[in-house]
Amino acid sequence: MSNRYSIFSVIRNGLSHNEKWGQAWRSPEPKREYDVVIVGAGGHGLATAYYLAKVHGVRNIAVLEKGWLGGGNTARNTTIVRSNYLWDESSQLYEKSMQLWEGLSQDLNYNVMFSQRGVMNLAHTLQEVRDTQRRINANHFNGVDGEWLDPEQVREIVPIINLNSRYPVLGASFQRRAGVARHDAVAWGFARAADRLGVDIIQNCPVTNIRTKDGAIEGVDTGQGFIKTKKLAVVVAGHSSVLADMAGIRLPIESHPLQALVSEPVKPAVHTVIMSNAVHAYLSQSDKGDLVIGAGIDQYTGYGQRGSFHNIEHTLQAIVEMFPSLSRVRMNRQWGGIVDVTPDACPIVSKTDIKGLYFNCGWGTGGFKATPGSGWAFAHTVAHDEPHALNAAFSIDRFYTGHLIDEHGAAAVAH
Ligand SMILES: Cc1cc2nc3c(=O)[nH]c(=O)nc-3n(C[C@H](O)[C@H](O)[C@H](O)COP(=O)(O)OP(=O)(O)OC[C@H]3O[C@@H](n4cnc5c(N)ncnc54)[C@H](O)[C@@H]3O)c2cc1C
Repeated sequence: MSNRYSIFSVIRNGLSHNEKWGQAWRSPEPKREYDVVIVGAGGHGLATAYYLAKVHGVRNIAVLEKGWLGGGNTARNTTIVRSNYLWDESSQLYEKSMQLWEGLSQDLNYNVMFSQRGVMNLAHTLQEVRDTQRRINANHFNGVDGEWLDPEQVREIVPIINLNSRYPVLGASFQRRAGVARHDAVAWGFARAADRLGVDIIQNCPVTNIRTKDGAIEGVDTGQGFIKTKKLAVVVAGHSSVLADMAGIRLPIESHPLQALVSEPVKPAVHTVIMSNAVHAYLSQSDKGDLVIGAGIDQYTGYGQRGSFHNIEHTLQAIVEMFPSLSRVRMNRQWGGIVDVTPDACPIVSKTDIKGLYFNCGWGTGGFKATPGSGWAFAHTVAHDEPHALNAAFSIDRFYTGHLIDEHGAAAVAH
């Protein structure tokens, strides 16, 4: 087992030229049987394993990952963390997540670099002003912080913004407790903490088939052989429909590419996170100085982690309109992830009709912020075979009952 990280371990390892750090997590051979098998070692899968072990005392767990842990959307996102969603159900779930973020580095004994530098949602039209103010009021009812900024207050926080471009800024919502976190550190932190509790994380182990018998889960076929389990928790984001298909289930999910890009490093210029849902442009600056830019969703479905050029062209055009001083900054890298979008822009954290089969998916373009809360609620669902009050509304059933939670205004393609 790896040692605890502390100021003393930093000094001790520094004195030995950092050559004696232990491995952060093991690479075990899979056992023949586990109490719970989790498919997908993204942030959500790893968080589920961690809270299952820590909160519910389930220790015989495997997390199976077809590639490397944190190689999916977890390490491809623009790292925006906020909880200012419109409806009670979502704002309560995301706020639970926010509270977990606030103590996460200490809890995991791993610095996830959660930086509460605030998130600003710009309003460009009168209708957006009304919708945004309504959302702020709704947030207050749910104990979520948020305030309305007039254009001058926006400029005070973001001096480089052009308020009178083709996309005039009429104001913004501002959640001060929101911010960003280091995405792969989140995956690594959960992986290490889960491993310390005995969870087996098995990489390069694709699940190729789900076996059921008499309406219950029997196990999974994988690239490393058959693994028996009575509880299978699937957390594979953009590949959810593929896994559901293996179990003979049809999910109301579309998989779309979503792109992001980063610039060359520049001096500190952007001290908060700025989101414009109307023009699909999201901007923050990393600690290294790169401008981190998120685009809108690509309209076509597919599994290629690329996306099309006209989308990022549109995003950069909007960024340059609103921040003219950035027009000559060069972009360093661009990539895409495959996001799992539901018809009501809300996740599915749910049991299924197959006994012992659970799905956690549909977080679409905005699930990074939910990582701890999603894992926490899903762990409860898997451990007790019942949803927690926080995720009860996010069951698959809502697509039959019609009890949808339409978060398109606050989520949709927003991060
Ligand atoms: C460009 C971009 C920007 C984004 N920006 C934000 C943002 O700013 N804020 C925010 O909150 N959210 C954002 N998101 C969304 C966020 O990244 C996701 O909702 C979240 O990371 C999903 O985490 P996950 O653990 O469910 O999925 P993933 O990290 O994708 O993990 C799923 C894992 O399952 C594995 N897998 C798939 N199939 C199999 C199989 N058959 N067998 C075994 N393993 C399998 C995959 O390899 C992968 O590692 C963004 C997404 C993208 C793509």
